Amino acid sequence: MNFLRGGKSVINIYDNAEKAMANKALQMNLKKATATAILKRNEAAAISETFENSRDAAINSRDMSIPRLRELLDEFIANAEKNGVRTFVFDDYEGVRAKIAQIIKSRGADFIVKSKSMLTEEIELNGYLKENGIEPVETDLGEFIVSIAGEKPSHLTAPALHKSRKEIAKLFNEKLGMPYSEDVEELCYFARRYLREKFMNAKVGITGANFAVADSGLVAVVENEANARLAINLPKTHIAVFGVEKIVGKLTELPHFLNVLSKSATGQLLNAYTSVVGAPDENKERFFIIVTKKRFEIAADEVFSEALRCVRCGACQNICPVFQRLSGHGYEFTYAGPIGTVLAPFFLGYRKCMQLIDASSLCGFCKSICPMKINLPGLILEHRFRCGADPAAGKTLYRRVKKIFSLGHSLVMSNNYLSTAVAPLARLYFAAARKISGKNYIPLWSRFSKRDFMGLSGKTFMERYFKK
Ligand code: SF4
Repeated sequence: MNFLRGGKSVINIYDNAEKAMANKALQMNLKKATATAILKRNEAAAISETFENSRDAAINSRDMSIPRLRELLDEFIANAEKNGVRTFVFDDYEGVRAKIAQIIKSRGADFIVKSKSMLTEEIELNGYLKENGIEPVETDLGEFIVSIAGEKPSHLTAPALHKSRKEIAKLFNEKLGMPYSEDVEELCYFARRYLREKFMNAKVGITGANFAVADSGLVAVVENEANARLAINLPKTHIAVFGVEKIVGKLTELPHFLNVLSKSATGQLLNAYTSVVGAPDENKERFFIIVTKKRFEIAADEVFSEALRCVRCGACQNICPVFQRLSGHGYEFTYAGPIGTVLAPFFLGYRKCMQLIDASSLCGFCKSICPMKINLPGLILEHRFRCGADPAAGKTLYRRVKKIFSLGHSLVMSNNYLSTAVAPLARLYFAAARKISGKNYIPLWSRFSKRDFMGLSGKTFMERYFKK
């Protein structure tokens, strides 16, 4: 019996975690990649004299712009149009996908070059384009790797973080016919030659945007490989698609964001390329497509609005003990890790996310590393409260069992006499359980058979104290 299995209507974190934990290669890749990322981030933050100041300035900027998002959107559109950029705003995914496909088709393109964009993952653009006879070519190396593997990105800034060099070498050999090599330079050079040809012949390039600036109608794209720069400049048509939360008020605020983003994402003092784009060159055209789905709702929520401060650096993913074992794919949502857990219920509802919001130790590492100081554990906890009160989440067995255990735990732990009285019984239980099952409890469900809880100490603190 598995009371935790919620069917397809629930993101089954328990199953996903079990599969991920059983995959030794995945565990090794995750451990190595996340540990390196944290180390580099900490080193960059430590030697920078401006990091903390920029952090505060960026937070201040976001906190000023989030309550004014509608106003800033209008200002951004007016200034972008003045620059000769055509702008469109959509609240639904179907609308934005159809608009992008229509622009591509009307330019006679049967493929597009694309730089990494989580928003296009969110709207599931690639699948839609393929269904409409348009080949999307991912040009960010990590995204290129996952796209030829037929997978989705597993991390905000390192989409192929879950893959080892060996796996990538095998993939290039099998899917692209490259002679087998694990040499990083050879692999990069092969991908580069393959993609350069696509860049040279593309009629349309699609990018995301890390920031959009209201007072000038510009967007900024931050990267390290120059693939976004090529996708912006080589094709005749450039489309930048991004969420409305990316808008900041003034151009002077941008440097603070760039300062914190590069250090938090890749541990660099500054990223290699930042393209700030507005007016298209002669004989070229540019579109800005802005997605508002759920953003205004989050912005209007007194508790959750701070989640829109996120700059998608991925630092909270790197440091999260759950992400480090589950990997991004286990979250079954575009945005994985602590920030994904905070955003998912808005997009998918509490019923689907009831296990996801429980998949956090609330250890607080994510809050401490987040450059925008988002109270991620506090927001996850708030989701748990709201989920408990939400009738739409449904009266599943999972929730009922959880409620009974929570009530029992709270009753015992909040009453000194009760907890003292229960302690000897609990010790007896643990002793019996260890005899029967070899663990500190008796696993009634196969789901728990691999776990072992900490046993109780022989005596409580008070018992020891008074004995002295
Ligand atoms: S929540 Fe913070 S740490 Fe996580 S991706 Fe967003 S900005 Fe980075």
